[in-house]
Amino acid sequence: MNDPIRALAEAVGAPHVLSDPEAMAPYLTDWRGRYTGNALAVVRPADTAQVAAVVRACAEAGLAIVPQGGNTGLCGGATPLQTGRSVVVSLSRLSRIRAVDPANDTLVAEAGCTLAAVQEAAAAADRLFPLSLASEGSCEIGGNLSTNAGGVHVLRYGNTRELALGLEVVLPDGRVWDGLRALRKDNTGYDLKQLFIGAEGTLGIITAAVLKLFPRPRTRAVAWVAVAGPEAAVALLSRLRERCGDRVSAFELVGRSALELVLRHIPGARAPLGGEPEWTVLVELADTAEDADLEAVLERELGAALEAGLALDAAVAANLAQVQALWALRENISEAQRIEGISIKHDVSVPVSRIPEFLARAGEALRARWPEVRIVAFGHIGDGNLHYNLSRPDAQDNARFIATTPEVNRVVHDLVDELGGSISAEHGLGQLKREEIKRYKSPIELELMATVKAALDPRGLMNPGKVIGV
Ligand code: FAD
Ligand code: ZN
Repeated sequence: MNDPIRALAEAVGAPHVLSDPEAMAPYLTDWRGRYTGNALAVVRPADTAQVAAVVRACAEAGLAIVPQGGNTGLCGGATPLQTGRSVVVSLSRLSRIRAVDPANDTLVAEAGCTLAAVQEAAAAADRLFPLSLASEGSCEIGGNLSTNAGGVHVLRYGNTRELALGLEVVLPDGRVWDGLRALRKDNTGYDLKQLFIGAEGTLGIITAAVLKLFPRPRTRAVAWVAVAGPEAAVALLSRLRERCGDRVSAFELVGRSALELVLRHIPGARAPLGGEPEWTVLVELADTAEDADLEAVLERELGAALEAGLALDAAVAANLAQVQALWALRENISEAQRIEGISIKHDVSVPVSRIPEFLARAGEALRARWPEVRIVAFGHIGDGNLHYNLSRPDAQDNARFIATTPEVNRVVHDLVDELGGSISAEHGLGQLKREEIKRYKSPIELELMATVKAALDPRGLMNPGKVIGV
């Protein structure tokens, strides 16, 4: 057998094959620092043909292939296992916007374009690409597609799965599937692109995608609202959607302890409302019409919500600086939590209507067992997705508490399951939840997933040990 490093160098050029431990290090640990793996090499192909050549070289040598985008994933999906018998394929050099078609409301981006670069290319054509994450400066569209990323605008535009019309994929045997169709209607059998979206690199390497564009909103209004509780938050959401329709472009729940962390750790952060409301929501309305006067609409709707007892207090941003300050409170929760210290995190979804029941019952069950638990709950309740993080304020107690993660997960995930929810709403399974998911997916679903995996990747070379554990 040929020396695999030499074959890889032939495929991409020697400077783009890293095998020195120091050069490889940033690619071998995940963003949270939870997982570190080993690899024979990290390769940085420049285009689809080079990706295909890399895959063929790996297949020939029987090496596992770990695709990596911006390496901002939160489940260890882009980190190789410890075996060292793998090659990390970084897609970052595939960073061209191949085409923009404003009349068709689409663009074609290569996998290594950062999400921010895709948003900018859309804006340059006076269009919106609506996916928006706090990691958008670093994460890449190939990673977004592979994790089916969510974020704050899912309730209006859907998640990444709904934003892709076509894909180009390098298959595990090195062949290229050109599925870059820019069609909104195409009923010609199985929708193959959907297999690769959300597959976390276990079925092939996405090299390019046709993405949907939307009219660019020209006005928006944002408010921070204290609500009487999660039931009131859900009722307020329903009411706003009845009255304002698709103008409701974000509806984020923020629990008091989440806001407290931001106020404590993020310089310049200010509480938008007096008192210490237990539950608040950030509401955003957006419209393409310049003269939509959304502030007046939001003030009127919130006034009615105050009268109905759903809202207790509200602050509508009066200018762009205030809009940004309110959004910063929401977007800095993860960073504030990181500064505060380690916690047991959950990324769960339940039907929106069951969010109040989830919060009440999970809180009760956890406090009964761990009376000092601190619950930091926030998230995209407009689409039923909560980030539900648990810790103990005291560092030593916290270390002991973290050791009980499996028991805590059992309480939270069993309840999510009982309520018809999902234990991974938007971050994926990766290494983190590949075992946990076996408890919650039916045998038939697990079997179907294994069948798909075996059909597309019979040798199990694509990102082994992720998602389904093979
Ligand atoms: P990576 O981390 O590099 O990879 C993720 C997975 O996709 C891995 O399994 C990898 O093997 C696979 N992969 C990557 N590229 C390809 C490819 N081209 N072909 C095949 N497989 C590939 N996520 C959300 O959904 N919503 C949020 O609001 C959100 N906020 C975040 C905020 C912060 C501060 C951070 C750090 C992360 C956040 N994330 C969020 C998680 C993360 O940014 C997303 O999962 C993102 O989509 C990952 O993109 P990436 O390019 O970094 O992928
Ligand atoms: Zn999120």
